[in-house]
Amino acid sequence: MSQIVTRFAPSPTGYLHIGGARTALFSWAYARKLGGKMLLRIEDTDRERSTDAAVDAIKDGLSWLGLQWDGDAISQFARAHRHAEVAAELVAKGLAYKCYCSPEELTQMREEARAAGRAPRYNGHWRDRDATEAPDGVAPVIRIKAPQSGEIIVNDHVQGKVVFKTENLDDFIILRSDGTPTYMHAVVVDDHDMGVTHIIRGDDHLTNAARQIVIYNAMGWTVPEMAHIPLIHGPDGAKLSKRHGALGVDAYRHMGYLPEALRNYLARLGWSHDDDEIFSTDQMIEWFSLDALNKGAARFDFVKARKHQRDLYPRGRPQISVQGDGQYSGRSRTHG
Ligand code: GLU
Repeated sequence: MSQIVTRFAPSPTGYLHIGGARTALFSWAYARKLGGKMLLRIEDTDRERSTDAAVDAIKDGLSWLGLQWDGDAISQFARAHRHAEVAAELVAKGLAYKCYCSPEELTQMREEARAAGRAPRYNGHWRDRDATEAPDGVAPVIRIKAPQSGEIIVNDHVQGKVVFKTENLDDFIILRSDGTPTYMHAVVVDDHDMGVTHIIRGDDHLTNAARQIVIYNAMGWTVPEMAHIPLIHGPDGAKLSKRHGALGVDAYRHMGYLPEALRNYLARLGWSHDDDEIFSTDQMIEWFSLDALNKGAARFDFVKARKHQRDLYPRGRPQISVQGDGQYSGRSRTHG
């Protein structure tokens, strides 16, 4: 295979949280192991929620953790023209089309589907309509023609073979009426143009993968390898909250964690190598493989995280500030 290219693609709407840091760590370790590159793409198309402070916090967090990305960070927003160009190409090829439905028509469509016991999906109203039928003064969205029968298969390094029935996919929007791309479309165009060979990200994106494959196929592009990793839960098995440790990486830094200890602990959240608990980053890189990522949700545990640091630095340097049952109650830097 040609050079391995992974990427970390955070949305800059807050600090670098522990789940994002782990995704970045795996993407980085995989690239380092195979002499490849890890690219950083800032998914800043949501102009209302994206802030420069969050971009800085993410970059600071990655740098402090020692997860250096290759080349300059790429702004997704800056590539909007390219996203529109690919959408236009799909329309020209007859693989996507302009849809002029009003919000009221779409609501009615969903209600009719619900009443008939079907999933509330777009019904393909403009799929085969002639452009001459377009209403005046309405800016259309662009929808991709999703396959109407068959299956989309995601061969995932963590989840295995995941089959999506195409009847559950509708002709989804790739370009909004103001010409901006949807998340689904921008991610595919960027991953392709950046030469990404391996996508490692949270399993909350697994269903998106099926839709993204529709776009790859329409463009005739190779689908990257994928590894969707289970999200991190708290020690009680519940969704990770601040109390459990869903904090910005900078909060760990202020608590006194050292980057190597946090890397070691994060690596163990969802990846394993035999029974090894304490290892150096070089060992992690040497041992790392996508197929050893765990399928079960990892549990974040402050007690274990502190133990990793103590074991890596037996002379107890530096102290980690602990309060109550180990919760951190200081302020974490957020955006804005
Ligand atoms: N920007 C997305 C997020 O922060 C990630 C998209 C992706 O990795 O494909 O969840």
